Amino acid sequence: MKSKRFRRKGREAKAAALEDVQKLLGDASPKRDLLLEYLHAVQDKYGCLDVQHLVALAEIMKIPQAEVYEVASFYAYFDIVSEAESPPPEITVRICDSLTCSMFGAQNLLKQAEGKLNSTIRVQRAPCMGRCDQAPVAAVGSSHVSRATMDSLELHVSGGSKGMLEVAVGQGQGLSKYLDDGGYQNLRAIQEGKHSNKDVLSTITESGLRGLGGAGFPTGTKWGLMQSKDNPLMAVNADEGEPGTFKDRHILSTAPHQFLEGMLIAASVASVTEIYIYLRAEYPDCYAILQKELRAIQQAGLAGDIKIHLRRGAGAYICGEESAMLESLEGKRGEPRHKPPFPATKGLFGRPTLVNNVETLYWIPEILGNGSAWFKDKGRAGGAGLRLYSVSGRVADPGVKLAPVGTTARELIEDYSGGISEGHVFKAYLPGGASGGLLPASLADIPLDFGKLDEYGCFVGSGALIVLSDADSIIDVNKNLMKFFEDESCGQCTPCRVGCGKMLELMDQSKWDEKLIEDLSGVMADASICGLGQAAPTALIKSFEFFRDDLPT
Ligand code: SF4
Repeated sequence: MKSKRFRRKGREAKAAALEDVQKLLGDASPKRDLLLEYLHAVQDKYGCLDVQHLVALAEIMKIPQAEVYEVASFYAYFDIVSEAESPPPEITVRICDSLTCSMFGAQNLLKQAEGKLNSTIRVQRAPCMGRCDQAPVAAVGSSHVSRATMDSLELHVSGGSKGMLEVAVGQGQGLSKYLDDGGYQNLRAIQEGKHSNKDVLSTITESGLRGLGGAGFPTGTKWGLMQSKDNPLMAVNADEGEPGTFKDRHILSTAPHQFLEGMLIAASVASVTEIYIYLRAEYPDCYAILQKELRAIQQAGLAGDIKIHLRRGAGAYICGEESAMLESLEGKRGEPRHKPPFPATKGLFGRPTLVNNVETLYWIPEILGNGSAWFKDKGRAGGAGLRLYSVSGRVADPGVKLAPVGTTARELIEDYSGGISEGHVFKAYLPGGASGGLLPASLADIPLDFGKLDEYGCFVGSGALIVLSDADSIIDVNKNLMKFFEDESCGQCTPCRVGCGKMLELMDQSKWDEKLIEDLSGVMADASICGLGQAAPTALIKSFEFFRDDLPT
């Protein structure tokens, strides 16, 4: 959480700040749920959120200044600057220090960058940027730098290198190509009444498709719950923030229309007329692609009467949790809601809401085009279908791997990722990103599917496989993960807010107190409101089980 710099009450907005903000907001009446977008607009224009602009925003929106500040200060992406401070330098270099980037030297890079880049440039640490296959990753402004070194950072800072944003926007699969390849036929068949909602629903149910954002809830069942709902909405979760996960970014960059067709089909089956897409702020390339392709489908009349809103998150991992995402879409702090009620009953703006992840929707056109059996039979070891695994860490060829559901970690490493990196010995793996736990190489033949890892106390979640070798310290891995959860805790409940920090303190001791760590883990798992606090100690507990010799016990 950021420091409290905005204490005085009754501050009056200055005319110049009011004019600045009014210009950005335009003439239409401001909407409360657009607060994050307005904050983005101010920060995009001025490089930071000056307190005067926040005061002006509160006045124009006719909401308390504290409300604007409590939202702005919740999100890591927003940079609040008080009147006493100078505006930040124009160039900000962010260096990801999440697990995979740290394994590939992010901490050293941070130190070097802080020492070497001059005072007109600001260097900050940043959470996962969704490019773990290119670690270590940095961002110079909104341009991302893969496999960053001091040389490449300096080249980007001096403007000598083409930003990834420019490259990515030129690469996206355009509408005409997708149409030429037979795209949108399934959607058209539904719109023309050739496929009934009932048929589509039963095909998706029979395919065995499950929510690929991480929860694994059966998609057909979720869609079924939306039948006959009054005035429903749809929210698309494109906020993949689980360290190690980057498959949604891959889809949005390479196949945006297959995802968009799936989204419109889902909306059609659920009788939704308004869709909100919630996209991570860390994906400016995908934002530009979606803006362009959404315009294209609207111009082509493919969206029919469905209104689509594209919204950006602002650097909060917790907003990947569906109810926190809904809060954020309403322009609030991204604090998870108590459930029930679930979003299908009471979701966005209190209305029944269908929430689906990008990859889940991406598979819809393929399933309808090829049939439920085609998809289901692709799975292995009792799993159904295909999925995109994100593979990073100590493998020769990291990246997004299309593989049958139920593929094992060993197969993903050996058959899909070129084996373990040269000079390394496979030691351990995280089957589901930062929150999915930690397993030894000797257990790398378990199918990576929902439910299959339960007996080991782990889960596959978003399909993020992070591979560790003998070069990686289990202690450092655990500290990195816990620091991440401490930073990303929304702070709403004590077991998580205090527990993560306390756990870090326990890990700073020369001898780790296993009993105390276990007790604290139990409290966090049992009493935290959402999955973040519940899962934060998973890898640590697994470390005691499988890597005791590596720990200072
Ligand atoms: Fe927030 Fe953590 Fe509690 Fe979840 S578990 S609601 S992230 S404090």
